[in-house]
Amino acid sequence: MKEMLRIRHQTKERSEITLVDWTLGNACNYACSYCCASQHDGSVPWMSVATVCRFADRVTAHYSRLHKSCYFQFTGGEPTLYPSLLRVFEHLQSRECMIGLISNGSQSLEWWEIARKYLSGVTLSFHVQFARFPHFFDVAQMMSRSVATHVNVMMLPKRFHECLKNACALAGGIPDISISLSPLEERLGVPRDGLNAFYPYSKNQLETLRAPKLPVRQTRPATTPRGRMLVYFVDGTTELIGADELKLRKANQWSGWICNAGLEVLKVDKGGNVYRGVCREGGSLGTVWDEDIQLPLTPITCRKKSCNCSADIMVARDKPRT
Ligand code: SF4
Ligand code: SF4
Repeated sequence: MKEMLRIRHQTKERSEITLVDWTLGNACNYACSYCCASQHDGSVPWMSVATVCRFADRVTAHYSRLHKSCYFQFTGGEPTLYPSLLRVFEHLQSRECMIGLISNGSQSLEWWEIARKYLSGVTLSFHVQFARFPHFFDVAQMMSRSVATHVNVMMLPKRFHECLKNACALAGGIPDISISLSPLEERLGVPRDGLNAFYPYSKNQLETLRAPKLPVRQTRPATTPRGRMLVYFVDGTTELIGADELKLRKANQWSGWICNAGLEVLKVDKGGNVYRGVCREGGSLGTVWDEDIQLPLTPITCRKKSCNCSADIMVARDKPRT
């Protein structure tokens, strides 16, 4: 890939949103073979509702001083197993925050019917080893009617064709969803300081992942807090590139760059530790229980070998001037 100069959001609106990526816990009703046990074994207790709401208020106040609104995106494990999630949603809605979920979609249709009143966006990940396709389809269809709905089909190499077939059925059967064929890492969720360790996909599989031909139909403009990033190259050209594609091109390496992690993304891990991003650059800022936690006011110089998480990749950054 050509030499990059800077990376920006596609729209001004997206640059004014801080994505708070919050891992509520590590309990999950699935145990996907590529997911390390600490991501789904339920060994960490849930945080209390009071803790979540109090810290969310602190975060919201901080970023509003920076003229940014907050989009709280809850993950897990499986975040819909968090017993009081709807109470958290109610609180955040009363503070006019946007709310998103990354979920395996397995909760009941009745639960999703209530949840969708609060949600701005949902990312439904299809995990072929455990998901029931008809139920997943129904959830995606219901959510897409009123919520920005993105589907990640996790492309297990051994069941690649089946995953692709399901992705086509979702894209063709449900208007107004966006959909990605997500390349899988062999040990999802293991922190590393190096490039993503994807399964060894075949040449044909890689071609399909890079340029999926899915029959998506958009009948209304998509309003998502994040999307493809506008990459400016040294030769004066630009290109809109998605996070997965940047990873597949191995272009997600910005050591030495000035990065807006901490300003446009904030990470809360399952133990309540707070970081600028999933990358943990700059170390821990404190925990959700700290009354006097200092949240970032300025960008940071990246010292990581690579930037592996999509939430981190989708922030603005600049190559330093020499
Ligand atoms: S990958 Fe997601 S759905 Fe699968 S076991 Fe891990 S947390 Fe659960
Ligand atoms: S690894 Fe972190 S600091 Fe480095 S570019 Fe990515 S988000 Fe920014």
